[in-house]
Amino acid sequence: MSHSASINQGTLYVVATPIGNLEDMAPRAVRTLSEVDLIAAEDTRHSGKLLRHFGIGTKTEAIHEHNERNQVPRLIEILKGGKSIAFITDAGTPLVSDPGFHLVRAARQAGIRVTPVPGACAAIAALSAAGLPSDRFVFEGFPPAKSVARRAVFEKLCEEGRTLIFYESPHRILESLKDMSEVFGDGREAVLARELTKQFETLHSATLAELLEWVGRDANQQLGEFVILIHGVPRVEQSAVDEETGRVLKILLEELPVKQAAALAAKITGLKKNKLYEHALALKRDGQETSEI
Ligand code: SAM
Repeated sequence: MSHSASINQGTLYVVATPIGNLEDMAPRAVRTLSEVDLIAAEDTRHSGKLLRHFGIGTKTEAIHEHNERNQVPRLIEILKGGKSIAFITDAGTPLVSDPGFHLVRAARQAGIRVTPVPGACAAIAALSAAGLPSDRFVFEGFPPAKSVARRAVFEKLCEEGRTLIFYESPHRILESLKDMSEVFGDGREAVLARELTKQFETLHSATLAELLEWVGRDANQQLGEFVILIHGVPRVEQSAVDEETGRVLKILLEELPVKQAAALAAKITGLKKNKLYEHALALKRDGQETSEI
């Protein structure tokens, strides 16, 4: 990939737009959108409102997710011809669970200068206010729509130690929370961030089981846009289980899957299954890490 863009070529600006509150539009984003030759937008009707609000009269063209690849060669020719293009999606940072990847990749491969104009991103906004560990995190985007595939994705992430971030739509929020609660464990700490930067912004911290119950009980909490953040599995030494219980779990884990080992350990010790499930996941994860070294 070339890093030295030709001065005769145009620049591709990847411009973030607000995720609800128009005051989050960066002044540089307004200036860039006003100055470029063309705005390539995910949905020109949707972006039209934003552009009108900021008095931006630049010509727009639609680049939908399904026709992005077909449009790329033409846009690259425009850039090569010396014209600049700004790319925007309906809300937030392009390419983050949004179109733009093919265009950006092709532009960079063609040696065209690609420059970000940063701004809102729902995942980062949610993380910044969730109060979950944020030094390391994993962004997973939207979970699959069908339960079997969704649960398979969650199973793979079950022992992940970093904070997990998901996007979810209103019509799947309950199903997804249900699967999360069953796979990650109903006692796992999580945060539901809804309608960020908008009138009904809500950030609710609870266990996954409590979140499911809370959202299920209140139809208002099922409306709008969601980010779900899930605490990663703590390290063995941070998970508060006494030495004897830890020893029992380790032995059970040699013979049984995590869920069964935790259930049996709960019967033996009288401790809560949730807590033991988390400790079992941590033991399994840390055990695997040690054996990989
Ligand atoms: N590119 C965008 C970004 O930077 O966040 C994400 C686009 S994706 C198609 C839309 C999803 O992002 C929504 O379904 C929701 O999960 C999340 N999202 C966007 N705006 C949000 C908001 N204001 N509050 C909570 N979640 C939001």
